[in-house]
Amino acid sequence: MRGLVFLLAMAAALAHAAPYEGPLFDAHLHYNEEARTPYPLPEVLARMQRAGVRAIVANSRPNTGTRDLASALDATRAAGVSVVPFVRLYRNRADYNGWFADESIHAMVLDELARGTPAGPFRGIGEFHLYDSANADGPVARRLMQLAAERGLVVLAHVDDDAIDRLMAHAPAATIIWAHTGIGGTPIERVRQLLARYPKLRGELSYRPGLLAADGRLSPAWRALLSEQPERFLIGSDTWINARWDGYEALMAEYRAWLGELPPAAARRIAWENGAAMFGLMPTSLPSPDAPTR
Ligand SMILES: [Zn+2]
Repeated sequence: MRGLVFLLAMAAALAHAAPYEGPLFDAHLHYNEEARTPYPLPEVLARMQRAGVRAIVANSRPNTGTRDLASALDATRAAGVSVVPFVRLYRNRADYNGWFADESIHAMVLDELARGTPAGPFRGIGEFHLYDSANADGPVARRLMQLAAERGLVVLAHVDDDAIDRLMAHAPAATIIWAHTGIGGTPIERVRQLLARYPKLRGELSYRPGLLAADGRLSPAWRALLSEQPERFLIGSDTWINARWDGYEALMAEYRAWLGELPPAAARRIAWENGAAMFGLMPTSLPSPDAPTR
């Protein structure tokens, strides 16, 4: 009976957990070609600002959208958003399917890295996709992983668990943000195994199957993993289609709701600190933990 009372008390506490209210680091943001007319730059920055997003990993197809975000120094500063630019591998949709063996993409990445951006040098490569994990062994995939490790670039990869092993084999020193942490539903035990095997692997949590239970709260298995290893995870919007921009603020509110179920220090790490630390955002530029962000 006492156990039941305790469980009921726990359930009541979780039901009333306050949303996380601190800053957010959006570690998986696209500003693709088709978003730019319906969502011009002031509009996307306004959405980030209203959502309390204070920094973004920016990448786009083609790289023009990233360059626009990284060039708008006054506007991003006014919105309180730090832009961390990544080079995307896609000039167009066709590139999704062949980049891993396309020498012209390797050349394009080198060219973009050499140009840099007004917001500073590119800090990473991606997001890229591998729909067949064997393509992680393609010649350009291998060379880009090695380039990332040599230059300290972070890799944002939408791949399955097998491809994580393959990509890490090319460049064990590389840092990979695993987009969606297994969008096909990689079993959580396998996620734990990969995190243990690769200390520089991080998981981004958009679209992660099983993260939330049917009631919209964190599933017990994911609550346990995120509470135990909060230093390994980040959140992201994945604005891959315009509908994600439509729902940007609602999505961030959803993140705030489940982050609020975690111990506060864990929530803050996943929401903000891991991204800020990864890219060296100055602590002095951070809002204080208690400052309202919205
Ligand atoms: Zn994406």
